[in-house]
Amino acid sequence: MEKNKAVVVFSGGQDSTTCLFWALEKFDEVEAITFDYNQRHQQEIEVAKAIATELNVKHTVLDMSLLNQLAPNALTRNDIEVNEGEDGSLPSTFVPGRNLMFLSFASIMAKQIGAKHIVTGVCETDFSGYPDCRDVFVKSLNVTLNLSMDEAFVIHTPLMWLDKAETWELADNLGAFSFVREKTLTCYHGFHADGCGECPACKLRRNGLESYLAKREGADL
Ligand SMILES: [Zn+2]
Repeated sequence: MEKNKAVVVFSGGQDSTTCLFWALEKFDEVEAITFDYNQRHQQEIEVAKAIATELNVKHTVLDMSLLNQLAPNALTRNDIEVNEGEDGSLPSTFVPGRNLMFLSFASIMAKQIGAKHIVTGVCETDFSGYPDCRDVFVKSLNVTLNLSMDEAFVIHTPLMWLDKAETWELADNLGAFSFVREKTLTCYHGFHADGCGECPACKLRRNGLESYLAKREGADL
């Protein structure tokens, strides 16, 4: 097993692209894995492919369309509107157990290619009711995966305690600010870069960006 080899769970969005840059700085060898589960916008897959190619990262797209069969919702079905969860309910973008599935498959790939490290952009700070984004879940799964394959995987979550502004700051510190801003896709409506500006994902991204830019300007003065 290569000590310095990592698999990055990669969607082509802001968070996982920042994680990819983070991994490229930290590890000698990096591969990316993207899960195709009939996302609302197939261009998410195309964006992920284009970024991996540009960064010269070996990229695997895994068919996970069975998730759509199990959990039809706003991200995977065009006939359901995206809305934010109210009164603590889960948002309509929720696919139960998605990160459980993704990290499990990523670790199987890690085992196949001899990678010790798995990197994911899950984040507890912007916690929106996804229980499998929580730190305690990731640590628990890490133990389970190691027992299941008799390995010593290490799951890294560089964004776990960052808010969106701090995620922009991390991208900037990695020299990837413009790349992440211009080439990633976060928008639920499939618009690149700064997106449609209206959907929950765009609002979250823009609020973080504005708050980081204000902080950066303050520091420059
Ligand atoms: Zn949008």
